[in-house]
Amino acid sequence: MIIPVAPKLTPEQLKEVEAIVAEFGCHIQPIVGAERSIYAVLGDERHETMINRLLGLEYVDRFDHIDSPYKLMDKRSSLATGKLTLAGVTLGEAPLFVAGHCTIDPKEPNLFFETAAALKEAGAHMLRGGVWKPRTMPYSYQGDSAALDILLEARQRTGLPVNTEVMDAEQLRIVIEHQVDMIQIGARNSVNYPLLRQIGEATAGTKTAVLLKRGRAMAPVDEFLAAAEYIAAAGNPNIILCPRGTLPSMDGYRNHPDECITQLLKEKTWAAICVDPSHSVGRAHYVPGACLAAMAYGADGLVVETHVEPGKGIGDDPKQSVTPEVLGKIMADARTIWELRRRY
Ligand code: PEP
Ligand code: MN
Repeated sequence: MIIPVAPKLTPEQLKEVEAIVAEFGCHIQPIVGAERSIYAVLGDERHETMINRLLGLEYVDRFDHIDSPYKLMDKRSSLATGKLTLAGVTLGEAPLFVAGHCTIDPKEPNLFFETAAALKEAGAHMLRGGVWKPRTMPYSYQGDSAALDILLEARQRTGLPVNTEVMDAEQLRIVIEHQVDMIQIGARNSVNYPLLRQIGEATAGTKTAVLLKRGRAMAPVDEFLAAAEYIAAAGNPNIILCPRGTLPSMDGYRNHPDECITQLLKEKTWAAICVDPSHSVGRAHYVPGACLAAMAYGADGLVVETHVEPGKGIGDDPKQSVTPEVLGKIMADARTIWELRRRY
């Protein structure tokens, strides 16, 4: 990984380093951070002659070689110094709260607008809303592009940035065209490597964040970080990891709650971790406890399915959405726990 003296390389300098690494079968992936850019050397970056030639360039400050399967996501990576700021919240400096419907009902836009207004009032930072849904059964509601207009209208009305899931290249194209602020990769697509790469490439060098959910059958830590590495290696380091419960489920909960993985992830990566307790426990009355537990385990934020009238929702909302009023209480208590957790 090349760290330049200046915040970034000039186009001529980039050309020169590209030519050097190409001689050794490698190529350069610029990674544009908030304050400075770094340049990942993809391929076998251990050639001594290559490293020495790069270090001989007066505009190269350092060459960091990290012996890790996920060298960009690794805690020792130079990316660790760049902090992600979303909706005015710098991750790691204050907790981030993302909330909204599991699924936006295109037939009931007002429900989403009401939820959005109530969430803004309650102090949530970002709106979530499913436009296209990954459903287990092909006969269940699959989503509708019309719901994107509702999400965008809610952003305009509230001024809050928005998050939605994409599952294919066409959906990705549409959300990028509309500058959706955070793109979600759901549990089912968390190991869809071509999609991860496409999302990283399509958002490289932008402020767009990527919320990567943990797969339901993912092994602890390494497989999750390797998936995130695909996005970073394609050029976007604005990644938030989102544990959301795994299989097999704990009897009574929708999935096996995995809020405790945050501590293990933080040993290995610099990435922010925002936990989704809604899909983990899967019932609204279990969600507050799981949110607070997530904060106690050191989460940087929460992603919580929230609906003004859960009973009128579609998708997961009737069973697992909390109301904005409950979310308001959760956020207040989560902030307290977030502060307490910092003492350790
Ligand atoms: C969701 O966020 O509504 C969703 C479907 O999430 P997951 O991919 O975690 O199941
Ligand atoms: Mn859902």
